[in-house]
Amino acid sequence: MDSQTLDSTKLYLTALKTLQSEAPPTPSLPPLPSSIPHSKLIPHTRFLVDAFRHAGPHSHSYFLSHFHSDHYSGLSPSWSRGVIFCSHTTAALLRRILHIPAAFIVPLPLRQPLRIDGAHVTLLDANHCPGAVQFLFSVPRATADAAALRYVHTGDFRFCNSMVSEPALAPFVGADAVFLDTTYCNPKFVFPSQEESIDYVASVVESVERECEHNSSDKVLFLVATYVIGKEKILLELARRFKRKIHVDARKMEVLRVLGYGENGEFTEDGKESNIHVVGWNLLGETWPYFRPNFVRMKEVMAERGGSYSKVVGFVPTGWTYEVKRNRFAVKSKDLFKIHLVPYSEHSNYDELREYVKFLKPKRVVPTVGLDVEKSDSKHADKMRKYFARLVDETANKQDFLRGFLRDPGEKGEAGFKAEKVVSDALGPGQDMEEEEINALKKTEGDMGIGPVVAVGLSSFMEETYAQDPTLLNDEEKEKIIQELTFCLPTWVTRNQLLDLISISGSNVIEAVSNFYERETEFHEQVISCQTPVSTSKCCSLNGMDSLAKPCLNTNNTGKNIDIFPSQDSKLTNLRHTVPSPISPAKRKRSTDSKQNKKAKVKAKSEPSGSKQATITRFFSKVIPEMPGGTQSDNSEPKLDQSSKVEDLLPTDDGQMYKDEIDQFMQIINGTESLKKYAITIIEKTKGDINKALDIYYGNSENLGEKQISVQVESKIDRPVVKKHASEELRIVPDIFDQKVLKDNVDATHLSLPPEKYNPKEHACWRDGQPAPYLHIARTFNLLEGEKGRIKATSLLCNMFRSLLALSPADVLPAVYLCTNKIAADHENKELNIGGSLVTAALEEACGTNRLKIREMFNKFGDLGDVAQECRQTQRLLAPPTPLLIKDVFSALQKISVQTGSRSTSRKKGIIVHLMRSCREKEMKFLVRTLVNICFF
Ligand SMILES: [Zn+2]
Repeated sequence: MDSQTLDSTKLYLTALKTLQSEAPPTPSLPPLPSSIPHSKLIPHTRFLVDAFRHAGPHSHSYFLSHFHSDHYSGLSPSWSRGVIFCSHTTAALLRRILHIPAAFIVPLPLRQPLRIDGAHVTLLDANHCPGAVQFLFSVPRATADAAALRYVHTGDFRFCNSMVSEPALAPFVGADAVFLDTTYCNPKFVFPSQEESIDYVASVVESVERECEHNSSDKVLFLVATYVIGKEKILLELARRFKRKIHVDARKMEVLRVLGYGENGEFTEDGKESNIHVVGWNLLGETWPYFRPNFVRMKEVMAERGGSYSKVVGFVPTGWTYEVKRNRFAVKSKDLFKIHLVPYSEHSNYDELREYVKFLKPKRVVPTVGLDVEKSDSKHADKMRKYFARLVDETANKQDFLRGFLRDPGEKGEAGFKAEKVVSDALGPGQDMEEEEINALKKTEGDMGIGPVVAVGLSSFMEETYAQDPTLLNDEEKEKIIQELTFCLPTWVTRNQLLDLISISGSNVIEAVSNFYERETEFHEQVISCQTPVSTSKCCSLNGMDSLAKPCLNTNNTGKNIDIFPSQDSKLTNLRHTVPSPISPAKRKRSTDSKQNKKAKVKAKSEPSGSKQATITRFFSKVIPEMPGGTQSDNSEPKLDQSSKVEDLLPTDDGQMYKDEIDQFMQIINGTESLKKYAITIIEKTKGDINKALDIYYGNSENLGEKQISVQVESKIDRPVVKKHASEELRIVPDIFDQKVLKDNVDATHLSLPPEKYNPKEHACWRDGQPAPYLHIARTFNLLEGEKGRIKATSLLCNMFRSLLALSPADVLPAVYLCTNKIAADHENKELNIGGSLVTAALEEACGTNRLKIREMFNKFGDLGDVAQECRQTQRLLAPPTPLLIKDVFSALQKISVQTGSRSTSRKKGIIVHLMRSCREKEMKFLVRTLVNICFF
């Protein structure tokens, strides 16, 4: 056999012969079971990475990244499922430590591409433990002219700069996927370089010994906790610096010998030769979920090790300890014992992971470590992907998408094995989807240069795409973008047009919106021309209303769900939680929490959300052309050209000094550009103190009525001057509205009028140009709660948003967040951090009730929102409260999310109490549901 070309099956059969067992299994392999986690399977191959627990007759090719038990688990001396490809070091450990039969182990050299079963495989050092490698796979496609698929599997790795200049890695820039070690993939994990940590350990040893020199009776024993393999760098450096052997036990010595360290004299099995001893991982204490020192065991060890030790200093080198952010090198001590927690990690930290992904710019990232990461659609996987949203190559995905239209429908890889379910799920919602897609294609034939015939290949393309790229835009994600677009674009835009926009903009919402406005007239003409005689043709049946309504609905064929935002399952709970349930609010919160995290990754942008939101908000203010469907659109709608006004208001040199603070402040208050000058004034006034600025903005002592803002600010600083639009001024100077916001005698049931009868302006409960009251949302929710019909529910929500668009476009975005139980875009990682108990406490104060009563009512209603509503209704009010505004509620949530430190709980409670005191009608119920449901991560 050519040394450059390997065949797993042949190798396997040869290995089996050495066992002298009966007839070897047939070379034809059964299909791969769907239970294999996709983080362990290289697409279009039968290569399984670190997946011995998923071994079976379906594969003969197993790859082992390194010798850590969580990666080799499933291996035993009786292993005979297939051949194991790994580095020479790992191979030696497998033979010597695990006693795996040598015939089944195929050691491969580093950096040298080999052909295995038709694919090219290269091993690269992973900077993890000795022998740890990353695998680079280049898998040819079925058709010879198509470029090979490239995958990088990092195993466990710690990124280092030299990887960027690694020649073997260069061809993998732009890879189809990176299977990434996401152990510490969270911004909260930032640990120092290994060198810094090693220096720290050495310096501690040095200073402790120096101290002992002064007191000659002291003899100190150093204990370093390690795994069976790993952290050798620390040990070697200690040996080098102190010219002293390191004591290890026999098992560790065996491993070190395999690694080639045994003979150089750095290590010894004789405890008397050294006062630096290596101990087992958990000896100094449990590390998970937080470190708990075991001083008793330490004392025992001191006695065991003989000598005349009077002190013990332990080191626990782990990444986990770094969770305790402020004590980067925490020390636990008791009597004569000290334990240093050293943030020494052989895994990449968050910044390093991002660095690597940025360098590789893959089409997607597949996380390999984390809770339920084995499911591609898991909450965790989704969150991980979000972290890399702007670093992956979305354009490549877009090109693939378009290329897919032209691909021969016959071409299908091995991919089919896993695809069936995913595809049927993906195409499931809305069987008419395919047809619509084809229509969309037909329409754009001209400018996209794609013939309608190729569209037939669409479904097979989808199938293939999903098979090889389960993380690619699936149907649900597409729906999410459609929703987002729907809220940014005029209502007459059809679903087909939305789909067009999504595909030509590479699924980037902002780009899609700008694309739209570049070709707005064209799109409008399309709709008009499509609207010929009778609406029989497919695309015409989607009138303006439908295009808004459709994406709002969960288009599941079952028709069970009436959910405006399909991703937000919790919304269902929020709106429909009428059946008493025995679970506590806290539990309920958790259960909805997990669902809540299935969010659109598309939204994640690296730029500050403030600017993004401003962009979208600006688009909201664009003219909404007359609806072609003849529905009651208002022709006399004023043209709110906000963009020009924004320019006028932009500061020139102002605010340069507190730029970051101002940006942060703007983000917190979710302010549009028009508020910037005002923000600058407050920030300058408070000399950059955001907390004080927020207090001024939200009114002192958490007064949400906002009256004090103007009172306080008026005399000393210039109010923002807005000449063009009175409405804008009103929004900035809140004291003018107050009770005038609400129109008298507007029947709440107007909202449930059919869309063609609903007049967004007349039927709204507030006046044109005024900020929208929260009552508008609460009334809609209340009606929704009693609505079982899907069409009715949709039109309710449509009416709600139409009024917002017509009267107060700036409130659309906060309303969308409130409807989806969010307080910010996903990537902002904002948390509300409140639970049922805090809400209960606020309820006690706001409604003058007590915990016992609340408990009782909760048992009766099973929903804290209903409980709150009941409390509110039985409360006597002297005067009608100040109307709650959508932006007030939203800002209050934002403010809650930034509270930290001592007394933050009471500040949060204060904010909630103020909100509660302003509740009217059914606002209380939905406010509380929002409070207990909003929670992130
Ligand atoms: Zn490892």
